[in-house]
Amino acid sequence: MIIMDKKVNDILNNRRLQAQITANINFNTACLIPNFKKKYSEYKSAIIENARKKVLENKINDDTKILNIKNQLNNILQEKNLSLNDLQPSYYCSKCCDTGFVNGEQCLCVKEILNTLNKSNFSNKSLHSFNDANMTIFENDTMPKLYKLLKAWCNNQKNIKNILLQGGTGVGKTFLIECLATEFLKQGKYVVFSSAFEINNDFLKYHTTFDENKMSFLEKYLDCDVLVIDDLGTEPIFKNITKEYFYLLFNQRMVDNKINILSTNLDLINIKERYGDRIFSRILSKQNGRAFNINHSDLRLKK
Ligand SMILES: [Zn+2]
Repeated sequence: MIIMDKKVNDILNNRRLQAQITANINFNTACLIPNFKKKYSEYKSAIIENARKKVLENKINDDTKILNIKNQLNNILQEKNLSLNDLQPSYYCSKCCDTGFVNGEQCLCVKEILNTLNKSNFSNKSLHSFNDANMTIFENDTMPKLYKLLKAWCNNQKNIKNILLQGGTGVGKTFLIECLATEFLKQGKYVVFSSAFEINNDFLKYHTTFDENKMSFLEKYLDCDVLVIDDLGTEPIFKNITKEYFYLLFNQRMVDNKINILSTNLDLINIKERYGDRIFSRILSKQNGRAFNINHSDLRLKK
């Protein structure tokens, strides 16, 4: 099933309408030019005649006549600074004509829209990328190796769908998960980047909302191809909400075979204690998850 976000639908409808209205306005403008209407109906007739010949008489198309009229029309249209192309809707996405679907499949432009919506939602800052990473700040080769490994993972996850980065503050966890997010964005994936605090608040809103907006608080976290959660463990634990919804979310995302990237200050024992065995085994089973520890000792001390 393809779920089309209401906001995405609005954007697609607007794009489609805009293209159609512009084409209409252009056509009306063209009609103001003397000779246009007559030449245009000549052009249409020529196209129909050509198609008729092809179907009924099985004749090979001779486009010379049409091309001729086309040239004449374009010359006529120059008076209003128009061309024949301007009379057709110029869709933002030529693949789906701004419908969002190609042969019943979701068009790539939908993911682009989702990413833009999401980017404007979660932050105004641009995310770091692997290009920004400066490997000379590291004391030993642990971090450069990790960067290399994770960059390769972005291109081929095999069975590993969950990555957890642990470490204290100031060791560059957020920087690294931003690099990963950017890498997936480049691949055209639908990425949601959220702090644990934000996502926990959305759980609370979902839990306490009882109208048609309810789903909007959870939708993106379930739908996105890649979910990045920064600073797991800094959010307050709401009773019957935080652990329960994290479990639901991770469980569903596992079923859907989706990617999760987490950063945390907590060590594995603390994560287990805080969220329970069920969540822990969901995200960090040997088959589908990897945890990496980043230490201060990996960083060269600043002078
Ligand atoms: Zn499209």
